Amino acid sequence: SYIVETRALKKYYQLGTNVVKALDGVDFRVKDQEFVSIIGKSGSGKSTLLHMIGGLDVPTEGEVYIDGKNLAKMNREQLAVFRRRKIGFIFQNYNLVPDLNLYENVTLPIELDGDCVDREFIDEILNLLKLQEKKEALPNTLSGGQQQRAAIARAIASKPSMILADEPTGNLDTASSHDVLGLLKAVAGRFKQTVVLITHDQDIAQLSDRIVHIEDGRIMRGSDAYAGK
Ligand code: ADP
Ligand code: ADP
Repeated sequence: SYIVETRALKKYYQLGTNVVKALDGVDFRVKDQEFVSIIGKSGSGKSTLLHMIGGLDVPTEGEVYIDGKNLAKMNREQLAVFRRRKIGFIFQNYNLVPDLNLYENVTLPIELDGDCVDREFIDEILNLLKLQEKKEALPNTLSGGQQQRAAIARAIASKPSMILADEPTGNLDTASSHDVLGLLKAVAGRFKQTVVLITHDQDIAQLSDRIVHIEDGRIMRGSDAYAGK
């Protein structure tokens, strides 16, 4: 069984008299604990697909199943709980709160949920991401790579089963990109988390277990190892 399964997923946008087919029949599957990259040009539908999987937006047609549950069958509250418990998001822009230090940024979502912070677990994550020395630092004193590692720590801190990463290395140079991706892979592996990453960068995609190509809102034939199974 799959942690992610989309069936005939379509997302159309109406732009004036034009219909943009952002997703045009996507069957995409991810196995538990896989690290999958979705690669494609700008405008090919990558972000739209990730938003559908994360329950951030609703499809025009087709279904999204996470752990066998159809997202369309959840009400608003169930969807909110699903996003908080199951999914960690990482974006191109690190979205750190400027006047909170790194540690406070990492634990903020847990605090906002009113949950108890597992300090040992947070320390373990920060160690793995080589951020232990930077706990007190404010975001604007950190390098881009350090800020993205902090964003990864924040995504992992609430122990989600899946990380969705939207161009996480888009603002980083090649060396930092590889560094950040290597660490993301290590922590996700350590905590048995599934990762779906979108990128337009072939070198970055190569670091994953599997690469799926998307073009004009469709997964390219032969690029998905599970297609038709
Ligand atoms: P990618 O992430 O691969 O760059 P997107 O999923 O962002 O691609 O976009 C796919 C297509 O859908 C593009 O043509 C984009 O302009 C269009 N699109 C995305 N979001 C919207 C929206 N909210 N309204 C209209 N068109 C959109
Ligand atoms: P990405 O760089 O991740 O592909 P974009 O910069 O394309 O994202 O899009 C950022 C946001 O703007 C997304 O929420 C997307 O849905 C929206 N968007 C993208 N294209 C359009 C468009 N043509 N019209 C309206 N909104 C759009």
